[in-house]
Amino acid sequence: MNNEDKTIHGFDVNLICDFFLNTERQGPGSPEVTLKALGFIDNLTDKSHIADIGCGTGGQTMVLARHAPGHITGLDFYPGFVDRFNGNARELNLQDRVKGIVGSMDDLPFRNEDLDLIWSEGAVYNIGFERGLNEWHKYLKTGGYIAVSESSWFTEKRPAEIHNFWMDVYPEIDTIPNKVAQVQKAGYIPVATFILPENCWTEHYFRPLGKAREMFLNKHAGNKTVEELMAFQQYEEELYRKYKEFYGYVFFIAKKIER
Ligand code: SAH
Repeated sequence: MNNEDKTIHGFDVNLICDFFLNTERQGPGSPEVTLKALGFIDNLTDKSHIADIGCGTGGQTMVLARHAPGHITGLDFYPGFVDRFNGNARELNLQDRVKGIVGSMDDLPFRNEDLDLIWSEGAVYNIGFERGLNEWHKYLKTGGYIAVSESSWFTEKRPAEIHNFWMDVYPEIDTIPNKVAQVQKAGYIPVATFILPENCWTEHYFRPLGKAREMFLNKHAGNKTVEELMAFQQYEEELYRKYKEFYGYVFFIAKKIER
């Protein structure tokens, strides 16, 4: 996939990726939450094939690999993340079971019914939750699992400021029951749903991001685009602190049935 013309919220993707190379995670989450979600999955053996879609540098993949049997393919469209991912796997001596590849989530390089588990933390929004659930269904074996985290509304109503922010960046955000209905409709049994605790945002995401921002601003001193990107991130953090009772990340774990 060609990154050159791509933007996220109007920012150049390569700049964003360069920034996120300095962080262990590229979205809210934590090792505890990865393991909690994994606890609902009961079909894995040494022969299993797991895919981690939108794996980033692999923070959550390495946790999965240390606690689940089988082989894991991490897939991300940014080569810099995949290089770092494979370096991390080697450092942990996981390279025989864990491999990162460059690819796009809208055209996965797997065979039909190849996978026992599809994992995806904080990434499916790039093509949309419903589309991801529907398109990825065919790659799973019947009885295989999907585990994805996704931003969701906690309440039916919310203040206009936060509502408008999300309508701008990801209008597919929806309430948990509506998302669960989409899971069911796409051909899965909804097995579990849980809200990521606040520390997944504050401790594991915003705090390291704050440090990375300082470094990045020094490296790119005087660069207006970088300053704007950093200001946007700070705004996202402020919004979370102000409105966290209205939205957050939710893990959806589901089991494939025939459609
Ligand atoms: N799962 C990681 C990264 C989440 S950030 C974590 O939780 O830390 C979202 C990731 O999706 C980024 O690494 C980004 O490069 C990747 N991504 C965005 N669009 C993609 C696409 N079309 N195909 C594959 N990966 C994509």
